[in-house]
Amino acid sequence: MIAIDDMRCSYCGGCVSLCPVGAITLKETHLFVDESCIDCGFCIPACPVGAIAADATAAWAVVTMSLAARYDVVVVGAGPAGSTAARAVAEAGLGVLLVEKRQEIGSPVRCAEGVGQDLLTPFVAPEPRWISAEVTGARLTVSGPNDCETLEAAGGRGYVLERRLFDRALAEEAARAGAQVRVKTAAVGLLREGSVVRGVILQEPGGRWEVDARVVIAADGVESQVGQWAGLETMLPLKDAMSCAQYLLVGIDINPNCIEYYVGEGVAPGGYAWVFPKGDRIANVGLGVQADMVDEPALNYLNRFIESQPHLASGSPVTLVAGGVPVAVPPPRLVTDGLMLVGDAARQVDPLTGGGIINGMAAGRLAAEVAAGAIAAGDTSAEALLAYEAAWRDGLGRQMARNYRLKEKYGPGERASRAFARLFMVAAAGQ
Ligand SMILES: Cc1cc2nc3c(=O)[nH]c(=O)nc-3n(C[C@H](O)[C@H](O)[C@H](O)COP(=O)(O)OP(=O)(O)OC[C@H]3O[C@@H](n4cnc5c(N)ncnc54)[C@H](O)[C@@H]3O)c2cc1C
Repeated sequence: MIAIDDMRCSYCGGCVSLCPVGAITLKETHLFVDESCIDCGFCIPACPVGAIAADATAAWAVVTMSLAARYDVVVVGAGPAGSTAARAVAEAGLGVLLVEKRQEIGSPVRCAEGVGQDLLTPFVAPEPRWISAEVTGARLTVSGPNDCETLEAAGGRGYVLERRLFDRALAEEAARAGAQVRVKTAAVGLLREGSVVRGVILQEPGGRWEVDARVVIAADGVESQVGQWAGLETMLPLKDAMSCAQYLLVGIDINPNCIEYYVGEGVAPGGYAWVFPKGDRIANVGLGVQADMVDEPALNYLNRFIESQPHLASGSPVTLVAGGVPVAVPPPRLVTDGLMLVGDAARQVDPLTGGGIINGMAAGRLAAEVAAGAIAAGDTSAEALLAYEAAWRDGLGRQMARNYRLKEKYGPGERASRAFARLFMVAAAGQ
């Protein structure tokens, strides 16, 4: 039976229609071959990326675009945090490699895509191609066991992004500034000398490479492993994990300039539901639930929520998004010798709202500036990199720590209150 290299497979499905016995199936992003395979080999030359072979040892060699053996900085993960960090390192005149394990930066999207306009512009000039909608108001509905209250806020300006294009635009900016960018390239381990991180091991379709770096910036998102490999404590407690489901819902009756939030135990235990408009009668409609409070998936709550809302119930979902959000305090250490954690990997998300785009970009830039200074001074030890951790904790980190305390203070049972509603609106306006 033929062998498939999952790392190379780009799930184009081209092989499926060539199989004379129907032995190959493409399930979303995974190719499966069943026992009916007759080893005809028709699929092997049809695969554009050399992912199919007669057996696991016979794969065609794949030519690789060259990589340097050494960079000043390697950034793992091309989300908003990683691309912002890579761009800032490149702008400081240093050599930087940005690696992303997915084949398309920004896809699949795991986000409701809302950001504050004023908070975004210091990082990147807005471009129509990655802005779906501008919003000027917000409405929060809090439902308790017996009553329901609605708060309105006007005046704040925000964008609902098109993250698939936004994330790619940030990576493009990094590349224009001089960063080398690689997709379908996963960090699979760290190079270390004792406890000192001195580079990364990369796996890409052409093989495995070792790349030296004076600093590794781990921007590998909620699923971060790089920090753990370096011995940092990044384990997320269940109570600090939001489990989220979202549809891009079309044909709904919404105000295209107003964001809607819904808080209530019946709606989303420990979390909230949102409607973020993306244009005419289309919106990201989703919710997050606190993972230790539910005994059914977030998707069930979402389906029930939509059916309970007359203005949403007739909508058609054209995209399903699933994702986890760390609403936690950051790990005790964000740096170690030769390595820094940023963005969701460092749990730098607002614990009240789950917003992490701006925080990740701010942390990415801060980490890059400290890394550049440390490299210039010839000292990339944990002590030297601690300046990043201290600056984060004294700046945005202080606000996040306060919001974590408020999240704990207003336990799920106390959220149907006017005080929490006000707090939530303030936090949401600052995301
Ligand atoms: C349902 C949902 C709704 C949300 N809504 C909002 C919102 O409205 N506003 C907001 O501000 N935030 C929102 N967030 C949070 C926001 O999406 C994240 O905080 C943000 O994407 C964090 O950016 P990041 O760069 O740290 O990580 P990510 O954007 O997750 O990027 C990490 C990247 O690292 C890559 N990677 C991981 N491991 C490796 C590896 N070993 N090698 C190479 N690459 C690797 C991943 O493929 C990924 O591309 C939402 C999250 C979810 C799940």
